[in-house]
Amino acid sequence: MIPRGEHGISRKQFSPNAIKVLYRLKDGGYDAYLVGGCIRDVLLGQQPKDFDVVTNATPEQVKKLFRNCRLIGRRFRLAHIVFGREIIEVATMRGHHEAQEDKNQISQSSEHGQLLRDNVFGSIEEDAERRDFSINALYYSINDFCIYDYANGLAAIKAKQIELIGDPETRYREDPVRMLRAVRFATKLDMQIAPASEKPITALASLLDNIPPARLFEEILKLFLNGKAQQNFLMLRQYGLFKSLFPELDRILDKNPGGLEETFIKQMFANTDIRINAEKKVTPAFVFAALLWFPLVERTEKIRRQEQLPEYDAFAQAMNKVLSENAQHIAVPKRFTLGARDIWHIQQRLDKRAGQRAYRLTQQPRFKAAYDFLLLRVDAGETEHTALAQWWTQYLGQDINGQKEMVRELGHQGGPKPRKRPRRRTTKKPTE
Ligand code: ATP
Ligand code: MG
Repeated sequence: MIPRGEHGISRKQFSPNAIKVLYRLKDGGYDAYLVGGCIRDVLLGQQPKDFDVVTNATPEQVKKLFRNCRLIGRRFRLAHIVFGREIIEVATMRGHHEAQEDKNQISQSSEHGQLLRDNVFGSIEEDAERRDFSINALYYSINDFCIYDYANGLAAIKAKQIELIGDPETRYREDPVRMLRAVRFATKLDMQIAPASEKPITALASLLDNIPPARLFEEILKLFLNGKAQQNFLMLRQYGLFKSLFPELDRILDKNPGGLEETFIKQMFANTDIRINAEKKVTPAFVFAALLWFPLVERTEKIRRQEQLPEYDAFAQAMNKVLSENAQHIAVPKRFTLGARDIWHIQQRLDKRAGQRAYRLTQQPRFKAAYDFLLLRVDAGETEHTALAQWWTQYLGQDINGQKEMVRELGHQGGPKPRKRPRRRTTKKPTE
């Protein structure tokens, strides 16, 4: 325990809503603490993303105290206290599930040791042991304004170590997503994964196959849209975790170390990080379009050869295949897969610029993303498209007359001629 005044934290660094929740629970006769990432981040001088509260009140008891409360979750039952756009998550302290095995269905494990349900309630010490990393098991109380450290989290913060609480292999088996979290915290906090926590990762990476696809999608967004995407990508590759997420791309990257594909993906993540850190928007559609691009190119070629199909048809079939294979383990919402399809489709049409085509292409909602995608391809080494990319860059910088002129110029340079519209029949065909 670190007494008030010695940990250097003031309650002003926490969300006023979270403090309100603590007081309401306290006044209701319960114990309540701020816990997890928010304490860790404040101690490290970072701005917490969200504030989590833990209490000895059950979710139903919490609900009785707050009008703005809804209960959620099955695997972990939680209360969400809603303050406009801010949600304070209130969890009931968790205990050890072995203690009450098969009494009823409050805790349940799979054959791989994965915890499917974890609703056994317990003491604060037990709750600390159930948390993932020691740096995430720090508690702040408004009774005495002290920080409680049940798992040596403060020492780990000092030593910059991401260490699992308990036996690493067991803890990864219970919840394989902890392997992804280890990577994310290491890069976010600029820390090392402790040797014992690092060791089993590669051997257990394939356990990620058992994670529900919707949860994996959420975790992937956290890894790639938090401003540390490039580092996360490299570290996921290093530990063999990337293979469980994007097996086809992983295989392609392995075939050509340091090649065009790797340059493309690294550059894409570097650009993503720059945008996120400048508080610009990044759409997951773009990230997924990029992550599945090389598998798509490879698949298109295979279908074209095997089925003797024209490139365009092979490309369409390959898009369906690549997306449906990916959907088996990562549930990318449809609005993003549609966006990825648009970006891919436009890649095929960027060299068809004659007549009104160039202009019409720029009117597509995903045109800008598709243009950025082309630039990325060229930057990564697809030099055969350099002239095309330069043309588009110049085109986008022109006013309408300049654009028309550029398209006319294309004709003079022997570019593709505009397709003539079939003449409309003036006389009706006699019907029989
Ligand atoms: P951030 O919000 O910056 O991603 P965080 O540590 O707050 O980091 P959350 O996902 O918000 O992470 O979870 C809050 C807390 O819940 C964690 O600090 C940790 O104590 C606990 N926790 C979250 N996920 C797990 C897990 N898979 N296994 C065990 N404990 C977990
Ligand atoms: Mg959090």
